[in-house]
Amino acid sequence: MKCGSGIEARQVNEVSINVDPIQAGGRLTVDAMKAVIAYGDGYSVCDNCRKPNRLDYISKPPIAEFHKDLAQWLNMDSARVVPGARRGFQAVCHTYVKQGDPVLLTSLSHYTEFLAIEDSGGIACEIPVDKKYIVTADETAKKIEEVKKQFGRPPVLLFIDHVDYQFGNVHDVEGITKVAHQYDIPVLYNGAYTVGILPVDGKKIGADFVVGSGHKSMAAPAPSGVVAATSERANEVFRTTAITGDVTGRKFGIKETELMGCTLMGVTLVGMMASFPHVEERVKHFDRELENNRIVLEALLSIEGTKVLSEYPRKHTLTRIDTTNSFDKVAQNHKKRGFFFSSALTEKGIAGIIPGATRVWKFNTYGITTKQANYLAQVFIDIARENNLKIS
Ligand SMILES: *Cc1c(COP(=O)(O)O)cnc(C)c1O
Repeated sequence: MKCGSGIEARQVNEVSINVDPIQAGGRLTVDAMKAVIAYGDGYSVCDNCRKPNRLDYISKPPIAEFHKDLAQWLNMDSARVVPGARRGFQAVCHTYVKQGDPVLLTSLSHYTEFLAIEDSGGIACEIPVDKKYIVTADETAKKIEEVKKQFGRPPVLLFIDHVDYQFGNVHDVEGITKVAHQYDIPVLYNGAYTVGILPVDGKKIGADFVVGSGHKSMAAPAPSGVVAATSERANEVFRTTAITGDVTGRKFGIKETELMGCTLMGVTLVGMMASFPHVEERVKHFDRELENNRIVLEALLSIEGTKVLSEYPRKHTLTRIDTTNSFDKVAQNHKKRGFFFSSALTEKGIAGIIPGATRVWKFNTYGITTKQANYLAQVFIDIARENNLKIS
C-alpha cells in the first residue's frame, strides 16, 4: 500500500516485535488510531470553540474535561498539553531562566533539557551521577553549593529525569526535590519515561512541574505532551497575555503567552485523549511489564560474556546492555561484521535494535505480551547458539 507518491505505508509494529527504546510507550491504541482518522484535518478540534476562545475550554470533544483529568491523574493542580515534553521544558525555562542564570540538570539529562536552557540564555550545571549511575540527593546538595560559590546565587531551576534515557535507572526524585526546595529552587520532574508508563504522583514527589511525553509514553501521536503545575507555579508559567496593538488597541484575552495561545489542535490532542483511559489503566500494571523484561534480560544474561549496564534487578523496562564479550566477539569474525546481529534479529521478526550495534545497546520491552517476551528471550539464545556462544 502507498500513501501517495513515494510514501510506503509503514509496517513495523504490525509485522514484528518492536523493542525500540523510544517507541515502545508511544504505540497508538486502536482508539487513538480511530481519532487520528476522524481528527486528521487541521484545527479540527476548533469546530465547537466558543468564547473565551482557548483550547482547554473546549467541551466538544471533551478537551476541558481532559485537562482536569490529566491534572488530577498526575496529582497536580493544573495541566496543559504541549507539542512534546521539550516544549514543556521550554515554557518553564522561558519563565524562570534569564541570561547567565545557572540551571541544574544531571549527567544523564536528555539533550532537550540542555536546548531549553540554552534557548533562555541559561547555563547548564550537571549533577554528577554516583558509581552506580544514580543521581542522589547528596550529589544534588553538593552541586547546589558549588554553583552558589561559582555564581554567587543558587540555580534558578532544577530538572530531574525520574527515569533517564541512557540506563533506564530510577533516580531519587523525592530526595532531590527536598534538597532543591531548601534553596527555593523550583523542580521540573521529567516524566518522559514514566508519565503514561507507571503511576506518577506529583504532590508526593514535591514537584513544581510534571512534564510527560505523549508520543513517547502515552500512546499518543507526535508531537504531544503534558506540562502540569502546582497552583502557585501555574500562575507563573500559564500567565495570560498582556500585550496591546499600538494601532488597533487589540488585546488577546486569556491566551497563554508561553503556550502561544493554543497548542495541540487536532489529531495529536484527540489521539492522546482517546488513549487516555487505556493509559490510566495500564500504569496500574507495570509489574507485568517488569516481569516480561526479566524474562528477556535473564535470557540475555545467560549468554556468556553479556553484562547489564542498567541497575539490576530492573525497575524500568528500558535496559542498557553490554555484549562486547559475547555478540561483538562473533562480529569480529563474521562476514556480515556487526550487522550479523541485527540481520538475525530482523529475520526472526524483532525490530528496534540499532543495526550494526553489538557492543552497547538498549532495548525496551514495554507493551509486549508474555508470549512475545518468551519468544524474544528464545531468539537471543538461538542467535547466541547459532554463533557458538556459551549459554549457562
Ligand atoms: C524522549 C525524551 C525527551 C523528549 O521528549 P519529547 O516529547 O520528544 O519532547 C525528554 N526527556 C527524556 C528523558 C526523554 O527520554
